[in-house]
Amino acid sequence: MFRLIKGQQQAHRVLTQLINEGKAGQSYLFYGPAGVGKLATALEFAKIINCKHPDSGADETCPSCHKIDSFSHPDVNLIFPTPKFEVSDVGEYKKKEEQQQVQAYIEQLKLTPFERMQFGKATAIHIDKIRMIERKLRYRPNEGNYRVVIVVQAEEMTIQAANAFLKTLEEPPSYAAIILTTTNYSRLLPTIISRCQKVRFKAIPSKTIEEHLIQHYYIEPTLARISARIANGSMAKAIQLSKTDFIEARKMTLDIIDALMNDNLATIHRIAKNFANNHNEELLKDILDFLAIWFDDVCRYTHGSETISNIDHEEKLQEFLDMHQISDRIIQNIVLLLEESKRMISGHVHHELILINTYYELRKRLHSRGIFL
Ligand SMILES: [Zn+2]
Repeated sequence: MFRLIKGQQQAHRVLTQLINEGKAGQSYLFYGPAGVGKLATALEFAKIINCKHPDSGADETCPSCHKIDSFSHPDVNLIFPTPKFEVSDVGEYKKKEEQQQVQAYIEQLKLTPFERMQFGKATAIHIDKIRMIERKLRYRPNEGNYRVVIVVQAEEMTIQAANAFLKTLEEPPSYAAIILTTTNYSRLLPTIISRCQKVRFKAIPSKTIEEHLIQHYYIEPTLARISARIANGSMAKAIQLSKTDFIEARKMTLDIIDALMNDNLATIHRIAKNFANNHNEELLKDILDFLAIWFDDVCRYTHGSETISNIDHEEKLQEFLDMHQISDRIIQNIVLLLEESKRMISGHVHHELILINTYYELRKRLHSRGIFL
């Protein structure tokens, strides 16, 4: 029934069953890590239960499905954290500039529910939005079967908003399907949690992410595989990775590997210079992630596994292995080293120094001949 998001079979089974039993109208809490398809599922759910021709899911072609796709369905309301904007009783933004910012956020969602525009100011879900929802829920749906309210990042409700929302959850009308999404369960009022049907979303398997990137974003297979591996179950993170500094970071990582192989200290100092003046935290994190994947590949390759990530650099991997006899213990030690380097990024250590230090520590381990065993 759910076709758009892959890798959430368990959550989708629960929802499919409720729809089939005619119990879609209730309150839900979709919880789980960021970027795994909670909002995307909520939107698809809204389509399925309001579709004019629901067969085994939403038909994606009827006026109801189209309106939900364009965020203009009168019975489907989306609430998300914003800066403190002035809103009228019917939920219209009073200032043009603020209205434009909200519109930009929605335009971004239309492209993909996995990416959210940042407002650049502190955001929250304020009480006026909850009051607006309360008013809308008093009336039966205009066009569809259900009034759907989706509250994104529900943990961002202010305490006043959360208290007001509790009343809505106490006795929602049977035509209301209320979906809260959250990555942080513990920040919600226990009384809110207990009034919702809980639906758990898990990290998406990396193979599923890889296929999605190739099919829907036309990402080149090697990059897709590596993005999926680094993203650690988050589709949003994988999409973001496959677009940004990714290619540059990977090139730098391969240069670092070359430097390690040729013991070329000039290279590492040249790369580190990039970080002397500009604090590109993400780039440095990506490089450390790529290094971790390289050594993970080294480990897999030693054990004869064919599922390596750096499929386009198999020769280099073999060459690297021929030069260094690396035991699993050393690999483990290197993984710990790289994690420690990543932790240092958010501290006060200069990024240039982190990279140089990491390099020298790697070099020491590769030439240790068992000292680290
Ligand atoms: Zn439809």
